[in-house]
Amino acid sequence: MKFKNTFLDQLEPYSPGEQPKTKNYIKLNTNENPFPPSKHVINSLKKFDFNNIRKYPDPSSLKLKEVLGQKFNLSGDNVFVGNGSDEVLSLIFLAFFRGKKILFPEITYSFYSSFAKLALGKFKTIPLEEDFSINLEKYNKTAYGIIFPNPNAPTGISIGYEKIKSFIRYHSDKLIIIDEAYADFNSFNCIDLVKKFSNLIIVRTFSKSYSLAGLRIGFCLANKSIIKQLLKVKNSFNSYPVDQLSEIAAINAIKDDSYFNEIIKKIKKNRVWLEKKFTEMGYNFIKSDANFILLKSKKISAKHLYLNLKSKGILVRYFSKPKKLSSYIRITIGSFIDCQKLVNFLKINDGDDFEKS
Ligand code: PMP
Repeated sequence: MKFKNTFLDQLEPYSPGEQPKTKNYIKLNTNENPFPPSKHVINSLKKFDFNNIRKYPDPSSLKLKEVLGQKFNLSGDNVFVGNGSDEVLSLIFLAFFRGKKILFPEITYSFYSSFAKLALGKFKTIPLEEDFSINLEKYNKTAYGIIFPNPNAPTGISIGYEKIKSFIRYHSDKLIIIDEAYADFNSFNCIDLVKKFSNLIIVRTFSKSYSLAGLRIGFCLANKSIIKQLLKVKNSFNSYPVDQLSEIAAINAIKDDSYFNEIIKKIKKNRVWLEKKFTEMGYNFIKSDANFILLKSKKISAKHLYLNLKSKGILVRYFSKPKKLSSYIRITIGSFIDCQKLVNFLKINDGDDFEKS
């Protein structure tokens, strides 16, 4: 083959959860929000003048940055916007980790290793504790930066605010990136620390808590000098971040606080309900601060549980590796009806009549 880039052999692209086209699945596999976006979002998109799409979007997403800045008590200059937080993360790796080492948990969002490789950076993974929690004391290795999601994905376990605060202070010589993709499902976030620490980047997404995964909007919050550097990389790569419709949708989503609070409350309530049912049914699970739960049957393998659920029209996520994770399935918390259907299925199907091959 004449045009063969051997560097690409080392890349291991991230494989997202299935997006089936055929069956009407109960989709609990990609941590999407079961509820529709706010009515304000939908109405703003309906009112949009489609003649405008002949024009490029605002390259700086100024309005969205201002609204985000206001919401988080920061300035628009502390905000960087991208096409999903995946793009924001990839640009962070490109901007800061070329040839540099980054530490992250051994079990975490698997895109981090892909981004590190693509950015020609180095990485070291730090083992989780037996109970799947992150022990920040283990992150005492030489490195340029550290990244972890809080709550972690796919475990759903979070680290407390005070621990994170002292960690960022202690590691003031390192760039600390906290991926808060699921923080809205937790009881706190670390956004106010952006004002205190110039070595902190908080990455966020509209995909989960705002029900806008299909539009691809993410952002990060950090000190102005970090944002400036990110802009430099972005503008050397693709100077247009989010499209016109996505920017309008995001602005209107942020404005509808009451709907946001309502759906977060419902998801948290369903989480409590599911965890109670899992306990009653004798399943093992990891207590979660996010919109998903890792679940393990005492009787059959995670792979078979996943396949059996799929055959009944319920799609969950199964990870064949790493080994520690492969005995669990990850279930996204759906609507209450979805949760009931899941529980009814798990109730009657964890016995010997379960298909094992
Ligand atoms: N971070 C974590 C931990 C995630 O699980 C995801 C979703 N797959 C993302 C970032 C990316 O989300 P998005 O690109 O949809 O904003």
